[in-house]
Amino acid sequence: MQRQRFPEVQPLEATVQRRVRRQVGLSEVLNRVPVQPVKRGRVPFVRIDLDSAAELAEFDTLEALAVQATLITGAVFSGVLEGVEWQVTADLLVRNADGSYTPIMVSNHRVARPNPHRTMLALATTRLGMGHALEVHAAPRHHTIDGYRLTLALMGLEAAGCAPSTNLGGVIGQDREWAYLIDVSRYAPATIRALLKPPSTGPRRVKECASCRFWSHCEPELRAADDISLFLSGDRADIYREQGINTTQALIDASLGDISHIAQAWRAEIPVLRRVARTAAPRFDVEIDVDVEAYLDLGAYLWGTFDGEEYRPFVIWSGLGEAAEGENFAKFWTWLRSRRDKAHQEGQTFGVFCYASNGENHWMLSTARRFYGKVKGVPSEEEVRDFISSDRWNDMFAVARSQLVGPGGLGLKQLAPAAGFHWEEEDFAGEDSLHAFLIAATTPDAEAEAARAQLLSYNGDDCRATAAIRHWLRQGALSAPVLGS
Ligand code: SF4
Repeated sequence: MQRQRFPEVQPLEATVQRRVRRQVGLSEVLNRVPVQPVKRGRVPFVRIDLDSAAELAEFDTLEALAVQATLITGAVFSGVLEGVEWQVTADLLVRNADGSYTPIMVSNHRVARPNPHRTMLALATTRLGMGHALEVHAAPRHHTIDGYRLTLALMGLEAAGCAPSTNLGGVIGQDREWAYLIDVSRYAPATIRALLKPPSTGPRRVKECASCRFWSHCEPELRAADDISLFLSGDRADIYREQGINTTQALIDASLGDISHIAQAWRAEIPVLRRVARTAAPRFDVEIDVDVEAYLDLGAYLWGTFDGEEYRPFVIWSGLGEAAEGENFAKFWTWLRSRRDKAHQEGQTFGVFCYASNGENHWMLSTARRFYGKVKGVPSEEEVRDFISSDRWNDMFAVARSQLVGPGGLGLKQLAPAAGFHWEEEDFAGEDSLHAFLIAATTPDAEAEAARAQLLSYNGDDCRATAAIRHWLRQGALSAPVLGS
C-alpha cells in the first residue's frame, strides 16, 4: 500500500546492502552447484539456468520441467489462490529419481546449527542433482520467510505435476556447503493465512518497520492515531484488539493490571521499571565482562574483555574459520584462565559476565568443537560446558529480566542508558557491525583502520555497559520506578 502511496521513496541503504549480500550469496551458490553435462549412469545430467526476470520466465520453467532437466535455476511460478495472485522464484529445482523436483532457496539466514545430538537430511551443494541426501548432525533454525517461499514453490510444482510426495524443500543458508532439507508442510497454513489476509487499511508497527523506507511516513500516522502497535508491535496487541482496545490510551484506561501500568510508563517515556523493591546482582572479588563479535556463521573475530579498569580485545581481522580463529580464542581463554587462577591463589572469588549469553555460548562451544586438539590452547568442548554451567558464568540479561521490566524491551541498548551508560558510537548496531567488519577485513589501510577502531570502540562499550548495569542493579536500580506504584 505504502509503495503505491509514496512511489518516490527510495530503498534504504541497509536494504540495498542486504540485497547486494543476497545476490553475492546466490552467485556464490550457483558457482558451486554442478554445471557440466556429465553422464550419471545412463541418465544425462542437464542444468538449465533461467532468467527469472524474463517476460516468459514462467513458460521457460514449465519447458525445463517438461524436458526433465536435472537442475533448474531461477525457476518462476505463479498462481491464484481464492482470487489472490502470488508469484515466487525458486533459486534451484533439483530433480528426484521419481521425476519430481525438490525446490531449494538460497538465503543469508543461519538455517541450521551443528548439533551432535540432532540429525537432519542435507544435500551437498556441489553434488546437487548427482548425490543423495545424507544425515548430518545439525538442528534446524526456522525462518518464516524461507518457509513461505518454499511453500509457494511447492504449490507451483504441484500445479505442474512435479511436486515431491515428501513435501521436502531445501535451504542453503550461511553455510553454503549444504542444502538443509525441511518439511515444508509446517509452513503451509501460515503461508495461506498470509496470502489471504485482507490488505491492511493502514500501517501497523511490526519488526520490519525498523528497516523499512516508509517509516518516516508511517510513524506520524501511527502516532496521530495513538495506535497500540507503537507500544506492542506485531501480533502482541492482538488479544487487546479483540477486546476493542486499539490505542495505547485505551489500554491504560482499561486498568488491566501490569500491562496497563507498563503502557502508562511507555507513554511517560520511562524506560525501565522494577518488579522488586530492591534489585541485586551477583558479586565477585574479581569480575570480568565479556562480549563476542562474529561475522555471520563464518567465525568469531573478536573476544572483548573488561576487568573494571582495562578493556582488552582478543581480535583477528582475517582467517575466520582457519587456525587463526582458534589461536585467537586460545589466547582469550588462556588469559581468562590465568585471571581465574590468580584470583584463587589470592583467595578471591572470580566471576565472568556477559549480556544475553546465547552468542558467547554458541561461539565458545563452536570454537572448541572446531579447534580442540588442532590448535594449541583451545579448550575441549567439555571444559567449555563446565564453565558455561558453573556459577562463574553470569548472564546479566537473565539477572535483569528477573527483576525489571522494560516498556520498550530490556536489550543492552535499552537498559544501559537507564543505568547511566552511553556508547561512544551512538548509532552503531547489528547490521552496521557486519558492514564494518567487511571494510575492516577487506579494504586498504586507512579505511580498514577506521572500521577496526569503530568495532573495538563498540565492543569495548558493550563490555563496559554490562558492567554498568551490574553496578546499578547492586545499588538497587532506584532510579527505576516500581511497577504499579
Ligand atoms: S514502516 Fe512498517 S507499517 Fe510502514 S510500510 Fe514499512 S513495514 Fe509497513
